[in-house]
Amino acid sequence: MKAIGIDIGGTTIKGAIVDEKRKIHHQVTIQTNRSEGRNGILATLTTTIDQLLENETEIMGIGIGTAGRVDVDRGKVIYSTANLPGWQGINLREFITNTYALPAFIDNDANAALAGEWWNRGEIYDSVTFLTLGTGVGGANMIRRKIFRGNLWNGGEWGHVILYPEGRACNCGNRGCIEQYLSGTALVKTANGQSGRTYTNGADLFEAFQAGDRKIQPIVERYLDDLALVVYNLSVSIDPEAVIIGGGVIESKDQWWDVLIEKLTGKDVNLDVLPAALGNKAGMIGAVKLLFDAMSKGGEV
Ligand SMILES: [Zn+2]
Repeated sequence: MKAIGIDIGGTTIKGAIVDEKRKIHHQVTIQTNRSEGRNGILATLTTTIDQLLENETEIMGIGIGTAGRVDVDRGKVIYSTANLPGWQGINLREFITNTYALPAFIDNDANAALAGEWWNRGEIYDSVTFLTLGTGVGGANMIRRKIFRGNLWNGGEWGHVILYPEGRACNCGNRGCIEQYLSGTALVKTANGQSGRTYTNGADLFEAFQAGDRKIQPIVERYLDDLALVVYNLSVSIDPEAVIIGGGVIESKDQWWDVLIEKLTGKDVNLDVLPAALGNKAGMIGAVKLLFDAMSKGGEV
């Protein structure tokens, strides 16, 4: 049993053929053509799918995780930022079924990534919250083995929960959002502003932290205090069995993970806190998981 999993982002569209045991058979990554708006993005998407279909014809369907807010019942992108120009309003499920005559399941990219990480952990948890700390901060919730998408398909937007009222301005229009403090981008910006050094990425910065660099020490400590506070807030609001943390920042986890766990122990947080394991493959793998689950329920997808 094989299906195509797709992860649509503003920089690249990634696709893979994934089987029922989570194994990836072929993988394709293509730069997203954003300059021509919706048609350019769709052209990148069909090129990705066509290349995968050249390798495998026995495909059950196509699962897609895309940036933006998705009405999963209709398979429609109901909100999208300028990262994917013209994307808002597209009915992606209709497009896929009309183009390929295959079943399709469309979801938000963070929901798909959560499904992938959950699958990868053997589906042992009934409730999981997922946080991605990358260019931005994304999130998703699973409650009683179902992704909780919210009334307006906006559930799990942890990046725009306010951490510091009247804090840093956020591109969502509010101030003090978690994204402005916990994204990898925000951390690098803070470090460059306060340490007098110039870091181009989080990896160098975390290395300096582990090496005991005095200027970077308080900045990363503050970052991890904020992260521990967010995990604490999740523990008293959602109260999941596990919080999985992913995104680019997790690639440097060896330099900071133990410090986070120490801070959580101090807060008496009683849940499993786990690093994501699938990296940027989580969305593709999870999109296939969501497709398989929808198909196994016998309902239309
Ligand atoms: Zn915001």
